[in-house]
Amino acid sequence: SIPLGYFGGIGAASKNGILFKGSNFLDALSDIQNVVMDKTGTMTEGVFKVQEVNFNPEFDKAEILELVNILESNSTHPVATAIHEYVGKPNNEIQLENTEEIAGHGLKSTVNGKDLLVGNFKLMDKFGIPYDLDPNSIVYTTIAVAYDSKFVGYITIADSIKEDAQETITLLHKLNVNATMLSGDKSTVVKYVAEQLGIDNAFGDLLPEDKVNKVKEIKAKNESVAFVGDGVNDAPVVALSDVGIAMGGLGSDATIETADVVIQDDKPSKIPMAINIGKQTKKIVW
Ligand code: ADP
Ligand code: MG
Repeated sequence: SIPLGYFGGIGAASKNGILFKGSNFLDALSDIQNVVMDKTGTMTEGVFKVQEVNFNPEFDKAEILELVNILESNSTHPVATAIHEYVGKPNNEIQLENTEEIAGHGLKSTVNGKDLLVGNFKLMDKFGIPYDLDPNSIVYTTIAVAYDSKFVGYITIADSIKEDAQETITLLHKLNVNATMLSGDKSTVVKYVAEQLGIDNAFGDLLPEDKVNKVKEIKAKNESVAFVGDGVNDAPVVALSDVGIAMGGLGSDATIETADVVIQDDKPSKIPMAINIGKQTKKIVW
């Protein structure tokens, strides 16, 4: 039978918009050693805005932007929303063929018999597209574009850090919890955000399976891990963690379904709050 105190704890959490799918997770959070988090949509708003379009003048900028915009209608990634916001309503008279979304990379398609790639530089590498710049010299999330097997250029986009993100890390450190950030975004951007927030360990350029391996590394040290994320890509790592936490508002259905805890208002500061509720509940139970 479940001790009565846990109902109080789950109820207190629920009043604060933190939904627990079982009292065992409240117990596990009470003495968690690591909180591992995603960046986009978890510690940042997940709302990107286009900053700059830097295309080789050899290409028709408006035409390529239109193709990128159409291709992005096949994605629900925050990047797609930013592109639609900037370019406008996609022209649905142009037909794309063989459209594919490649997890952690971006999108691939064929238009007018020519291939179109829109994603990160890893996507360019995957398809052997040469480019003459150092991706890490750009301190923004960068969307690279290739058309007809040629590098067209890139679009920079920026997100903003959530207002309670820094306080979240401060509170976690007060609770003696290690904070780690894992992201599919560029390392330079991830390191910059982590530094702003005071996060000790930050890793970027990760594929969904790399996130899984990083969490496995921590678990191999016999340390407990709570992972908090929002994207479809985060579902495997949410499942693997001792406590999987999903952002309920922005989160993908798969991640919310897999999660043990759901934060309804997407505020990361609800994580240290949940840990504190867990600690108090334990005092009452034992
Ligand atoms: P995160 O861990 O930050 O949520 P993702 O794994 O979702 O990152 O994506 C990693 C990177 O892949 C993004 O930063 C972006 O550069 C690229 N990417 C993913 N989806 C798209 C898309 N629809 N259009 C363009 N680029 C994309
Ligand atoms: Mg994400």
